[in-house]
Formats: sequence, C-alpha cells, structure tokens
Amino acid sequence: MSQKWVYMFKEGDPKNKNLLGGKGANLADMTQLGLPIPQGFIVTTEACTGYYDNGKKLTEEMEGQIRASLAELEALSGKKFGDNENPLLVSVRSGARVSMPGMMDTVLNLGLTDAAVEGLAKKTDNPRFAYDSYRRFIQMFSDVVMEIPKPRFEKIIDELKEEKGVKLDTDLTADDLKEMIVRYKALYKQEKGEEFPQDPELQLMESIKAVFRSWMNPRAIVYRRMHDYPASWGTAVNVQMMVFGNMGDTSGTGVAFTRNPSTGENKIYGEYLINAQGEDVVAGIRTPNPISQLAEDMPEVYAEFERIYTKLENHYCDMQDMEFTVEDKKLYFLQTRNGKRTAAAALKIAVDLVAEGKLTEEQAVLRVDPKQLDQLLHPMFDPKALKAAKVIGSALPASPGAAAGKVYFTAEDAKNAAAAGERVILVRLETSPEDIEGMAAAKGILTVRGGMTSHAAVVARGMGTCCVSGCGEVKINEEAKTFELAGTVYKEGDYISLDGSTGNIYGEDVATIEPEITGDFETLMVWADKVRTLKVRTNADTPKDAANAVRFGAEGIGLCRTEHMFFEEDRIMKVRKMIVAKEEAERRAALLELLPFQKQDFVGIYEAMESRPVTIRLLDPPLHEFLPHSDEDIAELAKAMGISFEELKATVESLHEFNPMMGHRGCRLAVSYPEIAEMQARAIIEAAIQVKKEKGFAIVPEIMIPLVGEKKELQFVKDIVVKTADAAIKEAGIELEYHVGTMIEIPRAALTADAIAEDAEFFSFGTNDLTQMTFGFSRDDAGKFLEDYYSKEIYEVDPFARLDQTGVGQLIQIAAEKGRKTRPDIKLGICGEHGGDPSSIEFCHKVGLNYVSCSPFRVPIARLAAAQSAIKNK
Ligand code: ADP
Ligand code: MG
Ligand code: MG
Repeated sequence: MSQKWVYMFKEGDPKNKNLLGGKGANLADMTQLGLPIPQGFIVTTEACTGYYDNGKKLTEEMEGQIRASLAELEALSGKKFGDNENPLLVSVRSGARVSMPGMMDTVLNLGLTDAAVEGLAKKTDNPRFAYDSYRRFIQMFSDVVMEIPKPRFEKIIDELKEEKGVKLDTDLTADDLKEMIVRYKALYKQEKGEEFPQDPELQLMESIKAVFRSWMNPRAIVYRRMHDYPASWGTAVNVQMMVFGNMGDTSGTGVAFTRNPSTGENKIYGEYLINAQGEDVVAGIRTPNPISQLAEDMPEVYAEFERIYTKLENHYCDMQDMEFTVEDKKLYFLQTRNGKRTAAAALKIAVDLVAEGKLTEEQAVLRVDPKQLDQLLHPMFDPKALKAAKVIGSALPASPGAAAGKVYFTAEDAKNAAAAGERVILVRLETSPEDIEGMAAAKGILTVRGGMTSHAAVVARGMGTCCVSGCGEVKINEEAKTFELAGTVYKEGDYISLDGSTGNIYGEDVATIEPEITGDFETLMVWADKVRTLKVRTNADTPKDAANAVRFGAEGIGLCRTEHMFFEEDRIMKVRKMIVAKEEAERRAALLELLPFQKQDFVGIYEAMESRPVTIRLLDPPLHEFLPHSDEDIAELAKAMGISFEELKATVESLHEFNPMMGHRGCRLAVSYPEIAEMQARAIIEAAIQVKKEKGFAIVPEIMIPLVGEKKELQFVKDIVVKTADAAIKEAGIELEYHVGTMIEIPRAALTADAIAEDAEFFSFGTNDLTQMTFGFSRDDAGKFLEDYYSKEIYEVDPFARLDQTGVGQLIQIAAEKGRKTRPDIKLGICGEHGGDPSSIEFCHKVGLNYVSCSPFRVPIARLAAAQSAIKNK
C-alpha cells in the first residue's frame, strides 16, 4: 500500500508536529500564513522510522516522492536542480518533534558541483559568493554525511589565511576560495578514495539518509535520555531552497527572540552578521552585531522584520526564537519555534501573557516546565559575600544563576570531578555538542568565544546551568590546563565563581544563600495550587529541611527517616551499644539512653511543621550500617562497654550480611527486637503530646512500618506500636489521634495489599525499593551496567529517576485498588525519588493517589507538575 512520505510546505498540516517535526510543521505554518519563507518539502518522521525498518535504506517509494517534490520545488523557484546555469540549491535540515539544538547537523548549498558553481558565479555576477558557497557545501557534506572530521577543513582555512596574510574568512578573495576548494576536494579524495560527488541527486539522497542516521548518534541519544524523549519518535528532514546571506554587504543572517530569553523582558532580542551564512552567528566565528543595528543598516528590512515577528508571537502566543536571512535586502524567515528560556524568563513571560490577555491562568500554568524551576531553587550568591568578592573579569550573562567551584578544562574532566562530588566550573574556548555531559555535570560554564546565542549559551539556558560566555580576555592553555585572567593564572582545581545574571567572574569561592519564592514565581504557584488535586508533601529528616520545605509550600511530611539522626556524634556510640547488645535487658538500657534524643528530634520536626501531617518511618536500614568497622572504633566501643576487643570484633563479624539490602532490615528488625519499635513509638507519641501541650499544634503522627511483605508481620509490629502509643497517651492524660500504616515497597505487599490494608490506615509507596525489588537490581550497583543498557537501547531511562509505569506502576495500581477495596478511605502517597519527577507525578495523579512526597527543593516542581496533571487530565 502506498503511503505519503513527503509533504510540500504549503500542504503540510501545521498541527502535525509528530509527523512533520517541529521545524517542518512551523515552516508549513509560516508558509500558509503568507510569510516570506524559502519553499521546500518535508520528508516525514515516519520515513525516518521506515528507513530504519528497511535496513537503513530509503524505499523506492520514498525516493520517488522525494524526486516528485523536488520537481515541484523547481517549478516554484524557477530554477533547476543540477542545472549548470541557474542551479536550484537546497539545504537539508533535521527537525524532530521537539527541537534538539545542535544535536543534528544541517547541510547548506546542496546541489553545487564543479560545473554548477561556475554557472552560479556568472548568474549572480559574484564569483566570491559562488565559491564561498561551494566550499561551505563541500565542508558540510564531508563532515555531516561522510564523517570527515571538521577540524581537517578548518586547518586548511587557517593555513590559507596565513599564506594570504589575512585574519577574517571574509578577507579571502574569490581566487583564494577557489584554491580552498581545490584543497578541500583533495582532502576528500584522500579520505574517501574517490572524487567529491558531482551528482546532485546522489548528494541529496545521501544527505537525507545522514540526517536519519544522526537520530541515533551518541549525542542525540544522551540528549534524549536527559529529556525523556523516546527513540521511536524519529526525525523529519526538511529540504529547503537556499537563500543567501553571504552575497555581500546588503545580505546577512541572524537569530532573534521576540522577548529576552534570559529575563523575559518584553523586548526584541537578537544578533546578526552582515555577509554571512547559516551557523556563522551561533558558531562564534565573528562577533555578531545587536539586532538594533539592523534598524540602522537596513531600515526597510527592519520594519518588515518587526511586522513579521510581532505576527509570529501573536500567532503562537509565546516567545519565538527565529532565524532569518537577508538576501540582497530581501528578508526571509527560516525558522521559528517557541524559544528556550531560563526559568525566571519562563515565569515572567507566562505571567505577562496572562496580563496581556493572551493566555488564561491555566494555559500559563502549562507553559512552564516544572523541571526548569529547579534553577530558581538553588543557591544564589550571598549579597554580602558578593560585595566583598573581587571581580576579575566580565563577559556576557548567557545563562543566569550563581556558580562557585573548581575549574576544569575538558568535558571529560568536568564529568569525572563532578562524579567525585566536586563543584565544577567548566572553562572552554567554546563548547560543542560533544561537551554535553560535561556541561550537564558542571555548576557553571565559562567560554572564551561565542555570543548570547552560542552553543554554550543556548544549551546552558536549557539546562538551567549558569553560563558566562564570550570572555575574550581569558587566555586558555589547554595543554597545561590553566587559564590567565587579570594577570593571574588559574590552574585546574582552583576556585572561581560565575554570576550568570551579571556576567561577572570572581577568582574565589563566593558563598551562596538559599532562594525564595516571590514575584512571578509566587503568582504562578498560586495559580497552580488552585487547580491541583494531588497534595504535595516532603521527605525531611531534620527541622531545618522541614522548615525549608514549608517555605516551598510543602503540606506535610511524607517521609521522615528516623535513622539519619543516629549518626550524629553524641548518639552513634549509644546506637552501637544497642546493636551489639547480646541480651534484651542490655539493649533496653541502650535504647533508654537514645529515647530523649529521638524524642527531641521529633519535637523539632513537629514544631517546624506546625499542624501539618507528619509521617515517621520506623528504623529501616540494615544494622551493619551503624556498626564500627575500623579496629580503632571497635576498640573504643569495647572500652565504653567494658568488654574485650576480641569479643566485640566477633559480634561485629557475626552481624555481617551477604546481601544487606535484602537482609535484616525494615520491620524485620522490629520482629527480632520489638524494643526498638517500642522506643521509637514512645518517642513519636511523647513528642507529639509535648508539642500539642506547649504549642497547641494539632499534631496527628502517622507511624509508618517499613519493608512489610506479609500481613502478619505488619500485625506483629503494629501491635507493639499501638500498645506503646496507647500507654503513653493514657499516661499523659490527653487526647491524641495517631495513625499506623505501612510502606508498600516489596512486590508481595503490593500483591497482597487487600489483606495488608486491614491493618494499615495508609500506604506510602516506597518506589526506590519497589523499583529495586521489581527489577531485581540494586540501586547502588545499577549505575555500573545501566550505561550498557542505554547504549544497547534496552532501557532509555533510569528507572530509579523516572517511574517504570509498565511494571512498577502496575504494582502501584494493583496495591491502590486492592487497598481501597478493603479500606475505602485509605490514604495513599508516594515517597520514593519519583515523587519529585513530573512524569511520575502525572502517573500518581492518574492512579488517584492522595499525595506525593519529595525532597524539599523539589516541592515547587511537584506542585506545578501536579497542577499540570490536573489540567491535562480534566
Ligand atoms: P539547527 O537546528 O541546528 O539550527 P538549521 O537546520 O536550523 O539547524 O540550520 C542551520 C543554519 O542554516 C541556520 O542558521 C539556518 O537559518 C540556516 N539555513 C538552513 N536552511 C537554510 C536555507 N534554505 N537558506 C539559508 N539558510 C539556511
Ligand atoms: Mg545545527
Ligand atoms: Mg535552526
């Protein structure tokens, strides 16, 4: 059966981004709006998947449709593809559903050959332009399609410039460029063992296939994983008639945003270069002019530009990121898309568009990417420390935020240092897509070259990483791994700080402070809270974390781990005594010493949470985590306990487990040693009574029993808890409501949830353990082999970061249903890492959980994600 694989811009459905890709759909849209767009056609994303299904070949049907569309384009343009007098030249551009900046490569000026270039030179009466276009084409085709490394060509340019004694590419003459072409072609032949292809149709088909192949290149795979995009989407290819910004001083090319992508300010923002083509602006080869200059250079062109960008913004009701080219004073638009922006800009634009009457509040809530809020929830410079710090340099404020850390000079070093726990500042001449992982690992990025729309700037803004770009004063010595600025040499590992909002660079580690939710941020969060139905709690173990989370809007604590406090200096000895105790009486004595500490912990947390619900989990980790391991520690403890070193060492060894994650932990501890649960229940209840009495807060503790897999074990531990709690309440002579529930983190618990719900008043899905137990691999070890699973396309994402809805999600669904069957009003929540992940939150919304719980810094992200889930699933 035949299928339509290719659409002309004028016939494609602008709404169908899935089929046409984002770039293609918008080119179709702009064409149909009557804007000046060089015409062309789109080879669909289905053709991309078809290409892979067909053993990485275009089918005859696809090739036939491409030829037919090319003929149509010839008719539209009045030029002929492969003609030696008036050749039609095209660009071949990739375009997935969502933009993946810099991930895939574009070939420009395709259709040029040794003969056609002469025709072009004659026809335009501009040989310099013709040869420049041809040499660019050879370079791009060789790089993108034939994989001959780009630096080989750049070396030829540099050599030629040196021979000719010129500094800029634009200073090279037509004859120089002709010579460059000779050298390029020689390089091509040397690399490929054949002449540079002179058949335009072959050039085209090869380029289209190369774009399809690039969908699977390692950079694209990493980028997709970072953004949760599946490989099955595929990319479309756009074949578009060329327009030329490199025809002389009445031509140029540029990029612009309808609003400021850094701050959101409602003012056109852009850069352009005279006599340049394509990527020259973003590649940072020459320093571009601000867009305001265009109004002076070519006022009529600027007026037209203004008319079109206003129309585009109103059409899409969002800030646009556009590419344009001026060919001999005639303006063309080459691309528009909703622009990437910083979180602060995203909030301002969304709130402004509501004020401008262009969006409703709910539409505005959908406009901000929850994950992006992360940028605003991280530290900023402490104004006092900042004032005291000395500015050693300043460049473009390319992506806001504050970053302080140690300098590293390669993406690889940055990645490794960050993995080792360092705060990293990546310092580069300029960044390229290969640097993506190092950029993601860095707190801040400093580049020597490149403008506000350079690769570093665009990618950093997308990631929310602080970036200062284009600092020409920095002298990098890449080999020695040093750089010099303001007379000082900074070595690898030295501290610097970057202010991405001002562009300032500091030669020291400047202190940072906690962020706050105010202004547009607050406005949008209020709108979000109006529509969401999921509650948002936090995972917090200390009063400080709890107070932070409340500031960010947490409505309770979903998980308070009771063991973290055991590691503190004044307690660890007591905890160890408790663990190595041989008899119950001895253990009870140690627990009695711990009780006041534990009670005090809970008092602090209740006070921070005021009357909000607090879920406290009983002791969970394997006991060996608390044991003394070094001989020194053992000796010290033995002395404190009045036993011999040997005896204690033997006890410690006897507690060794082969697989502690699946060993003596969770409620199993309370089954063996009920007195531990007893002490904890007492601390939880007595603290609640104290705070209720002293502060008048209506505390309703929720006591959570971890790692349950069997109703009877829950029953056993619950009995101890209830008995202890009731006795404490009776003794205090006060009313206190409390609840006992369980974690669902063992598959068996999920499958028997109906029985378990008879004893549990609430379930909290511990999806870290549930994922680990369902997949059967340890979250501590999975990192080592998951990389192989990504590269072999077995898994696309880390199941510990994003809930596996198919498998683990099914267990959640089963448990929720079964639990509700037994106990219709059972309270359901999630407290694993996934509680702060937007796509997992949407799943929780759909399953009908009551709340998600996440780390304090993710609370606003979860609030927004919950609101979006409610709007999307209305
Ligand atoms: P990316 O997605 O990396 O931005 P593009 O496909 O948009 O890649 O193209 C890269 C550059 O080439 C852009 O500056 C674009 O404007 C320019 N370009 C693409 N097609 C044409 C064309 N037909 N005529 C002129 N310039 C073009
Ligand atoms: Mg590109
Ligand atoms: Mg582009």
